[in-house]
Amino acid sequence: MKKIALVSGGTRGIGAGIAKALNNAGYAVAVNYNSNAAAAQSFSKETGIPAFSWDVADFDACEAGVMTVCSALGGDIDVLINNAGVIRDAMLHKMDPASWRFVLETNLTSVFNMCRIVVPKMREKQYGRIVNISSINGLRGQVGQTNYTAAKAGIVGFTKALALESAAKGITINAIAPGYISTDMTETIKSDILEQIVDTIPVGRFGRVDEVANAVLFLVGDTAAFITGMVLSINGGQYM
Ligand code: NDP
Repeated sequence: MKKIALVSGGTRGIGAGIAKALNNAGYAVAVNYNSNAAAAQSFSKETGIPAFSWDVADFDACEAGVMTVCSALGGDIDVLINNAGVIRDAMLHKMDPASWRFVLETNLTSVFNMCRIVVPKMREKQYGRIVNISSINGLRGQVGQTNYTAAKAGIVGFTKALALESAAKGITINAIAPGYISTDMTETIKSDILEQIVDTIPVGRFGRVDEVANAVLFLVGDTAAFITGMVLSINGGQYM
C-alpha cells in the first residue's frame, strides 16, 4: 500500500516541488494551501494531486483539514511536510504587533498544530516521517525579519524536542533550512538587492525547488531511519 504524504503550502514554490517529488516516488500525496484557489486548481490539474484549503495557523481548521485528507486518501498520514510559510518584513522599530503574530502563527504555531494532530496516530502505528521547513535566516538572523527569524529558529528547537519525544516510536522529525530558492516568495525581492544576494552565494545562483525536494525525499525514506532531530542546510555554501 502507498504511504500517505501531506504537504502544507504545497500548491506553489518549494511545497509544490516537494509534493511532485513525493508523487513521482510513489507516495499518495495531498497538499494544503490557504487562499490562492487559482494556483491550487492549476497545480492539481497539472499533477493530479488533490489540494485542500485551510489556514494552518488555525488549530480547528487543521484538525478538520487532516480529517478530510485522510478520508480522501483512505488512511492516516505517514509523512507530514510542514512547509507553509509567509513573510511580513519590517525593522523591529517599525514592526506592528499584528505582523509579529501573523508570521509567528503561520510559520511556527502551524507546525505545532499539524504535528499535534498527526503525531498521535503515528505513535499508535509506530511509524512516521516529519520534515519541517525552516530557513537559513532562522539559523543566522536577517535584517527586517525578527518575526520570521524567530519563527524559523523556533522550528529548529521544536524539531529537536519532538524528535526526542518520538525517537522510540519509529517517527523521525527533521528540519531543512533552505537558503535562497527561486519561488514567488523570492520574486518580491527588488532586482538590485537580488544581485547583491547572489554575490553572497558561493555557488553563484539561487537554489531550485527540486534541490530542496530531493533532500526531503531522502529524509522521509526508509534508509534515513537513523536521522532525527537534525537540520539540513541547502544553501549553495552560503552558511556553513
Ligand atoms: P511561496 O510563497 O511560493 O508558497 C507558499 C505556500 O504556502 C503557498 O502554497 C501558500 O498558499 C501556502 N500558505 C501560506 N500561508 C498559509 C496558511 N496560513 N495556511 C496554509 N497554507 C499557507 O513560498 P516558498 O515556496 O518560497 O516557501 C515555502 C517554505 O520555505 C516557507 O516556509 C518559507 O518560509 C521557506 N523558505 C523559503 C525560502 C525561499 O527562498 N523561497 C528560503 C528559506 C525558507 P496560497 O497559495 O493559498 O497562498
